[in-house]
Amino acid sequence: MNNELKTIDFYCKKCKRTFRAYHIITENDNTPVMPNFAMKCHHCNRVVMLKNYSEGRIKAHMDQEKFYL
Ligand SMILES: [Zn+2]
Repeated sequence: MNNELKTIDFYCKKCKRTFRAYHIITENDNTPVMPNFAMKCHHCNRVVMLKNYSEGRIKAHMDQEKFYL
């Protein structure tokens, strides 16, 4: 992975561990982020879905480079 790429890492809100998934920042707040994408936490088996998230909305709720959902 290119270290110069800026990413937002997704973390599980329930167990606080990583989903091992991330969004690569485009610097365009209107960029849709994995629309209608579902993923399962490897640790607690919780399933989350990203619906109608844009990069701007993710950035507004992120904690440093982490985003809990
Ligand atoms: Zn979890």
